[in-house]
Amino acid sequence: MNSPLNNKIEFLKGVGPVRAESLKKELSIFTFGDLLLHFPYRYIDRSLMHSVMEIHAEMPYVQLKGKISQLKEVGVGRGSRLTARFTDSTGSIQLIWFKGTKWVKDKLRNGGHDWVVFGKPAIYNGAYNIAHPELEDLASFNSNVSTVLQPVYHTSEKMKSVGLDSRGLAKIMKILVSNVIENIHEVLPNYLVENLNLLSRKKSLLEIHFPKNRLELRKAESRLSFEELFFAQFRIVRQRVLRQNEIVGFNFSHVGNFFNTFFYDYLPFELTNAQKRVIKEIRIDFGSGKQMNRLLQGDVGSGKTLVALMTMLIAIDNGYQVAMMAPTEILAKQHLATIQKFLKEMNLEVGLLTGSSKTKERRILHEKLQNGELNILIGTHALIEDSVKFKNLGFVVIDEQHRFGVAQRAKLWGKNIQPPHILVMTATPIPRTLSMTLYGDLDVSVIDELPPGRKAIQTYHFFDSKRLSLFRFMHEQIKAGRQVYVVYPLIEESEKLDLKDLTDGYESMVREFPLPDYRVSIVHGKMKPDAKEFEMNNFASGKTQILVATTVIEVGVDVPNATIMIIENAERFGLSQLHQLRGRVGRGGNQSYCMLMSSYKLSTEAKERLATMVRTNDGFEIAEADLRLRGAGDIHGTRQSGMLDLKIADIIRDEKILKIARQKAIELCESDPKLENSENNPVKIHLKAIEKKSGNWGLIS
Ligand code: ADP
Ligand code: MG
Repeated sequence: MNSPLNNKIEFLKGVGPVRAESLKKELSIFTFGDLLLHFPYRYIDRSLMHSVMEIHAEMPYVQLKGKISQLKEVGVGRGSRLTARFTDSTGSIQLIWFKGTKWVKDKLRNGGHDWVVFGKPAIYNGAYNIAHPELEDLASFNSNVSTVLQPVYHTSEKMKSVGLDSRGLAKIMKILVSNVIENIHEVLPNYLVENLNLLSRKKSLLEIHFPKNRLELRKAESRLSFEELFFAQFRIVRQRVLRQNEIVGFNFSHVGNFFNTFFYDYLPFELTNAQKRVIKEIRIDFGSGKQMNRLLQGDVGSGKTLVALMTMLIAIDNGYQVAMMAPTEILAKQHLATIQKFLKEMNLEVGLLTGSSKTKERRILHEKLQNGELNILIGTHALIEDSVKFKNLGFVVIDEQHRFGVAQRAKLWGKNIQPPHILVMTATPIPRTLSMTLYGDLDVSVIDELPPGRKAIQTYHFFDSKRLSLFRFMHEQIKAGRQVYVVYPLIEESEKLDLKDLTDGYESMVREFPLPDYRVSIVHGKMKPDAKEFEMNNFASGKTQILVATTVIEVGVDVPNATIMIIENAERFGLSQLHQLRGRVGRGGNQSYCMLMSSYKLSTEAKERLATMVRTNDGFEIAEADLRLRGAGDIHGTRQSGMLDLKIADIIRDEKILKIARQKAIELCESDPKLENSENNPVKIHLKAIEKKSGNWGLIS
């Protein structure tokens, strides 16, 4: 505990109270150890020499070797500066300093004849110059191997104002490393370091900040990535092992009347094979004596809701209550409507609880929950408020999981002494690497088949100029009795502007189609829930033919008669959002279309997104493309989980390392789950330190 790594950062030489404040505020660096883990995000190759002739304005930096002459001080007071001429065999360039001039003069006076100059070239009065270049005497440059790959650190404007630019950070990092190097201990078991031929932790941390060469740097990066992924995976896998060993699950031993009556009398269609398989998987979990924690993945429209409903009936058959949690009020209401429709002939009580439920409604609901009258409770986050108590909650379905954080799920567990079975449903397919990281402790079921009779949606990309022919097509479809969605992007900061877009778009549409018998519904985020619902219902029941909306219709809405999805400014949507939106059509037997509208000006990435949408309907392929284009950190909703909070590893780039790390973590969890074996002691110690920081997840997933 009294390792210098735990020292407060203000006590590091070269830091002091002002810089310490800045490090704490800007980078959450509180101790020596924290600073040690602030890795460079790239390196400048200082072995590369340029010549004056090669300089052009786009170069981020140049490094030159030559002589410095004509040192001159110009002006006085605020506008004063120091200039010099730098010359190599190909030409010459001006160097300029606005501050620190005394230091520069001293340095130049005391150095030799040849200098290495490093900095960003800029154009001033038609000629190149370099402001505030780094200067190093050639002889000392040549003898200083540790600056070959110069680390570049993330910093901020505020940090720069207290001298903590990247160079400033590198300087204190040097002091730090020399201070703590002897206190860096191995955190991986010896056998892993040896078998996988990993660099030691000490050497890796040294190399990552001050690499000797590229090869050593790469070894250090892989070692540290492995370490990071190994510990993340170990925690995830251990969750599952602990849960399986220590938590007793409700035993839903039989399938009873509710399930059978529904299945034989009211189920309006054949289940797909995939649906049958998943229901069977869940039934096995229900009867295993262990708590189920299962992730159900299935593309939009694959029939997850029905699977949820039927498995809920099994729980009810066994005398338990069930809850279903959705991320938005609209979705919760939609689920309520769907489930009430399916169950309308059956004697079951279904309730709704959302943030806007009235106090009186709540009181009645709470009573029915506690006396067991209510079988199914559907709702939003409001479900997990402390005041909500069940008589015997046995099964919880969480829809669109990625919007619920770990902590929220944990709260739900706490609702019973014995935790309910959990089914997490997501319509956003998750690439394997990501799901290993995010849901590595859950069992996974996949619905990989759409209900029969669905025709693949045809997707087209139109530039705005093609709008007229699009309107014509829309017109034909409406004449044939179909309905149309028109979606506008909404960016929170400029909601007003977007609303204007939406209304303008709507008005221009009415202008193009002065047809009195077409009706348009408008729905947007600023509307009152009642008004929203009214408009949605008008569209759902066919009273209106066109629904103009912002992305509030993203998930859940089910209008099988709608066949065209027009997405305006499609370039402003992410891939998974586009895919979700497209999933609103193609839900009935009619051929459906998705029209992606955009301006001509598109970034390469936007082009790639739109092309991906046109090319495929396969949610998994889209998810992979999304991950590739955006990087893991940005995938919608994953950041809040905290599990992708990786310092050095990148689950896309380090996919191979991730697989090995997971494998090794599983092996360790199986052979020594409590880390009692002395060779695993380093893991135990480090894990404690990690959990002290990020919190122990306990038995939450
Ligand atoms: P998801 O929640 O996976 O997006 P839903 O459960 O909303 O999908 O199902 C989409 C539509 O398909 C709904 O209208 C639903 O009633 C219907 N559906 C579900 N399963 C089947 C099936 N086996 N055969 C025909 N239609 C189905
Ligand atoms: Mg759904």
